[in-house]
Amino acid sequence: MATIRTKLTLLIMAASSMSVLCACLLFYYLIGLHLQRAYRKDLESLADILGHNCAASLAFDVPEDASTVLASLDSRESVFAIRLYDKDGNLFASYDNVPGLKNHQSFFPEIIPDDPRHLKIERPITLKDGSTAGKIVLYDNFQEIAASKKKGILILIATGAASLAAALLLASFLQAVISRPLGLLTEAVQQLAAGDFSARHRIPTRRTDEIGLLSTAFVDMGNKLEDSYSQLAVSNQNLEKRVAARTEALQRAMHDLTRSQTQLIQSEKMVAIGHLVAGVAHEINNNINFIACAIPSLMRLNQRLNDQLTSQAPLNRDQLGKTTQRIDDLLHNAEEGVRRTIKIVQDLNAFARPSRGEFSELDIHQELEMVLTLLRYELKGRVEVHCDFTPGLPPVLCLRDQISQVFMNILRNASQAIADQGHIRIQTWRQDDTVRVRFQDSGGGIPPEIQPMIFDPFFTTKDVGKGTGLGLSISYGIVKNHGGDIWVESSTPQGTSFVVSLPLRQNGQFLPPAISVTAPEEGGQPA
Ligand code: ADP
Repeated sequence: MATIRTKLTLLIMAASSMSVLCACLLFYYLIGLHLQRAYRKDLESLADILGHNCAASLAFDVPEDASTVLASLDSRESVFAIRLYDKDGNLFASYDNVPGLKNHQSFFPEIIPDDPRHLKIERPITLKDGSTAGKIVLYDNFQEIAASKKKGILILIATGAASLAAALLLASFLQAVISRPLGLLTEAVQQLAAGDFSARHRIPTRRTDEIGLLSTAFVDMGNKLEDSYSQLAVSNQNLEKRVAARTEALQRAMHDLTRSQTQLIQSEKMVAIGHLVAGVAHEINNNINFIACAIPSLMRLNQRLNDQLTSQAPLNRDQLGKTTQRIDDLLHNAEEGVRRTIKIVQDLNAFARPSRGEFSELDIHQELEMVLTLLRYELKGRVEVHCDFTPGLPPVLCLRDQISQVFMNILRNASQAIADQGHIRIQTWRQDDTVRVRFQDSGGGIPPEIQPMIFDPFFTTKDVGKGTGLGLSISYGIVKNHGGDIWVESSTPQGTSFVVSLPLRQNGQFLPPAISVTAPEEGGQPA
């Protein structure tokens, strides 16, 4: 792309050359016209003088005299022929300007009448009385005019060259005065844009013309820009500090919140355990009673066997078989009691122990069974539990203790909603990339007016000491933290149905949706 400098130079050169050329051409044309007219007039006067001098010769019919008069023009080299005619138009005398052939009658008898190279001057010859004596015709070959033209062209070329040189000089001057400072200014603007604020000091501001004003404005702009830049840097620093402080405060608050949440979950769990304790203790007591009752019988039977060693009347084979069979049964019962006790203690321990925030893969069915073991006493003889589990469900990545607490809260609510006898149905299935659990009870239902509040913290309809109002709100928080959802699917005076949906993940990634879906009976999504 041509720079301003090149454009300016070309423009000035073209403009000045064109104007000089036009002026020269005009001048050349006018001078040529003037010269041509003067030349013609000069020739006409010459022809008149010659005609006047030849008038007597025409009057007295002396052609020799006329020829002598005509020949007197030999010093005028451009006139190459003169013809003198009498009043009848006959050739009377002639002159041809040919070196060595002076006074020759007619060297150029065939003069081309209207040759543009020749100037033909024709003048009448009148006598003193006013009558016409003849006419004189003068042929000139324009030599002087041609010479003048040549000179004119030379002058024209010289003037053109001079004007070009002047234009060049003007262009370089303009370049020094305009282009160079503009170039410097452009360079400085580019450096300033690249962040080099010192560029403005390299711009001279001494000039008082427009470029000087532009340079001063640029330096001023650079100063202001540097000021704003440093102010911006300072406020940026402040902002960063404030953001860091705010982030730290937020992190602290978040940490405190998480801790309080964990504490809340744990204390709610302890409340649930508190409620379970009576039932669990009863279960353990039952089993221990089982073992305790077995021990005296075992001791007695053992004694009987010992007595056999010294007995005078030993038992027969059949009686001995019955005794050992009885011992076997008692030992089996005791073993069953021990096994159940161990299971209850293990489940209680698993339920009570916090998971320390570590995600692990959980078998939903196992977890539900564990919760049901702990609730056995509360449900036994009153609530029938139907487990409708879909086999082969993938494990769910979750905080095990928190999910078991969700199941415990929902199942305890269901149990408490059943006033007398009733049933709870637990269904599991996979839907898209989630595992879902439906808890359906035959309790009294949740009245529609309180349904929007049941997930609110501290909302309870239970008596003091029976409910804290935290069970569902904590469960909601836990499920949401797992990226899942919990909702009331339906609730009528004939029963309530809760659904818990937990996302399936593998290595922290969601699994692709399952191809086959075990369709739930009621289906439904969170409201
Ligand atoms: P709490 O059980 O301590 O009252 P929750 O947050 O677990 O607290 O429950 C809030 C309320 O929701 C309960 O008081 C009860 O009115 C209602 N509710 C929850 N589950 C059921 C259910 N299965 N049937 C009827 N009402 C229920």
